[in-house]
Amino acid sequence: MLGAIEAGGTKFVCAVGVESGKIIERIQIPTTIPEETMSKVIEFFKGYELEAIGVGSFGPIDVNKESHAYGSITSTPKPGWRDYPIVKTLEKEFGIPIGFNTDVNAAALGEVTHGAAKGLDSCLYITIGTGIGAGAIVQGKLLQGLSHPEMGHILVRRHPQDEYQGKCPYHRDCLEGLAAGPAIEERWGAKGIDLVDRTEVWDLQGYYIAQALMQYVLILSPKKIILGGGVMHQKQLFPTIYKFLKEIVADYVHLPELADYIVSPGLGDHAGITGSLMLAKQALQENN
Ligand code: ADP
Ligand code: ZN
Repeated sequence: MLGAIEAGGTKFVCAVGVESGKIIERIQIPTTIPEETMSKVIEFFKGYELEAIGVGSFGPIDVNKESHAYGSITSTPKPGWRDYPIVKTLEKEFGIPIGFNTDVNAAALGEVTHGAAKGLDSCLYITIGTGIGAGAIVQGKLLQGLSHPEMGHILVRRHPQDEYQGKCPYHRDCLEGLAAGPAIEERWGAKGIDLVDRTEVWDLQGYYIAQALMQYVLILSPKKIILGGGVMHQKQLFPTIYKFLKEIVADYVHLPELADYIVSPGLGDHAGITGSLMLAKQALQENN
């Protein structure tokens, strides 16, 4: 059996499952301070004989195996979690291989193994929620270089009528600063869920998201794009994104039918935890 953790800023989802991706047991633990959250995580996993654990974590995180800080969360503003060594803590407790990657990379892995990108050797998983992040599978492997990608913080061309200053504490009006859930709320004075009938809200979202997708398509050429996260529950965003993307790509690259190419997660809300289970499987294989 394998363990999986989807470590989020508001909650940790922990699951026990098997290599096929089947989940046997699953719990949620609120994210408070590390000692408290992690002791509940450990208590849950203690009830099972596990061979490996996979962690898909909020970030930024250190994924460089050569680094002394490998396996920790790095520059989060979340109290107590900065520099927290999540992998070392689990290794010390369980003495088994621990897989570790970003939450969005885990979700991409989940979707390519069991979800909307099943059978493909590349895909992009993007979440538009409290923040914006993306994970990519390229030639069958999770994309990683110096560190993990941070595709939510790319710069986009501003809409000429958009005077909102942007919410990213680092870059102000990067994609996340303009189009994540908190930016919607601050710009329009209400949460996305309460703005369903305001077409201008979703037009502007589509305008920014399509630009980001164009850049990802031009650079990574993924075979499938999966859009998840709370904001993407607004399904009317999909046709708007298709429309803007068609306009700006302008026949330069040939894309598949957009309704098949840019889709919701096949695993729904389980993409991250399923992918974390696959991270455990990978860690076990690498160990053998
Ligand atoms: P997180 O990113 O924290 O994991 P979510 O993906 O649910 O969680 O993202 C939360 C953000 O998405 C909030 O800003 C919230 O207002 C927004 N959001 C959540 N559900 C919806 C919805 N159905 N429609 C529009 N916006 C939503
Ligand atoms: Zn930013």
